[in-house]
Amino acid sequence: MMSITAVGGYGEVGRNCTLLRVDDVGIILDMGIHLDHYIEYTNDEDLTFLDPAELTKVGAIPDIRQVDKKKVKAIIPTHAHLDHIGAIPFLERQFDAPIICTPYTGAVIGAICKNEKIKLRNKVRILNGNAHLKLTEDIRVEFVHMTHSIPQTVAVAIHTKYGTVVYANDFKLDNYPVIGKKPNYERLRQLGREGVLALMIDSLYAAEERKCPSETVAKDMLNDVLLGIQNTGKAIIVTTFSSHIARLKSIIELGRQLNRKVVLLGRSLAKYVFAAQDINLVNFSAQSHIIPYSKQVKRILREIEKKGKEKYLIVCTGHQGEPKAVLAKIADGIYPFKLGYEDSVIFSCAVIPSPINIKNRRVLEEKLKAKGIRIFKDIHVSGHAAREDHHELINMLRPKHLIPAHCTPEMGKAMASLGREMGYEHKNIHLIVNHDTISLKA
Ligand SMILES: [Zn+2]
Repeated sequence: MMSITAVGGYGEVGRNCTLLRVDDVGIILDMGIHLDHYIEYTNDEDLTFLDPAELTKVGAIPDIRQVDKKKVKAIIPTHAHLDHIGAIPFLERQFDAPIICTPYTGAVIGAICKNEKIKLRNKVRILNGNAHLKLTEDIRVEFVHMTHSIPQTVAVAIHTKYGTVVYANDFKLDNYPVIGKKPNYERLRQLGREGVLALMIDSLYAAEERKCPSETVAKDMLNDVLLGIQNTGKAIIVTTFSSHIARLKSIIELGRQLNRKVVLLGRSLAKYVFAAQDINLVNFSAQSHIIPYSKQVKRILREIEKKGKEKYLIVCTGHQGEPKAVLAKIADGIYPFKLGYEDSVIFSCAVIPSPINIKNRRVLEEKLKAKGIRIFKDIHVSGHAAREDHHELINMLRPKHLIPAHCTPEMGKAMASLGREMGYEHKNIHLIVNHDTISLKA
């Protein structure tokens, strides 16, 4: 008997969590947070420990009440984004199962727990991309290296006596990544030849008829703005996702080409960057100054004002307009740094389209515009596959069953229509929502 239960992230975007059951063994794939619901409830972005029952009620974490906890033998997050790992600190203690993940994902989980003084009940067991481990006598877990907007993302292949299930949530197919290698196409094709029973697939952009551009394109876009505009004597601030280590690497390199000293300001940036340094993935400390805390941030901003803002490239938190982040505090005059006419603020991100972000960004941009600041928006490429990437992955794996994940019902329908275009029968495409269980038959 093999079945899949949609625990979180099906019929919604956020709090990804899937339960795979193989006879008497349960495997949890991802244990994420729904950040919008979490922030609405707590009014805070930090993962401070709160009552899991309350967080479940408000839809901030997956509802695991129907999961038979004793049977779960592994918790496997695919990468270190909060919508895939953020519920681990709240929920893992209800299980007696190792958290199996790549080194970077493990380092970020460790950093979150250290920050919030949370002690995990379960051990974090590191498995590298393209490695595998034997979970039980007849279940093998394999990590296939993929690309995304955070390092060391994997697709998980679970090999069982009933067949192989692949969980690819999230991914993009980046053939020219800025950090790390391109996806392990060879192994994906081989899995397809060996036979894949089911594929759970990140379907966020299944409706978008394009290929997601490589991260190298984002670097070129940044190059075009940073090195192409007239900014002599002016301040330049860049803001991006704190966990986007590849993007930060590009920004730091370009800052050095501009002969500006690069400073990274903000707690969240420092957390993800130090996690990357801890596992020797990057050494940003050698090329930039990383400053987490408010007091130190104020001190360096005063120093920058004194020595000349044209000598620095400021990289800071606050790309979604978060009111407590460094950029908003600069705009509000809470931090001692004056932005003025023709200084530049570069948003190397998209606005994540939730009402909170849209409002926060509008408020921030209005404040910046009032000071005569030049704003550069959307200097960014996505980390998520679009329809033609989905097409590629499905062709490589040729799964029997197709299960759209990481999607609203609309996005799921777009994936289903792609499946039909590719010859799938209606009965083998499973549009499931949270709490649904489907059994998988070879
Ligand atoms: Zn992700």
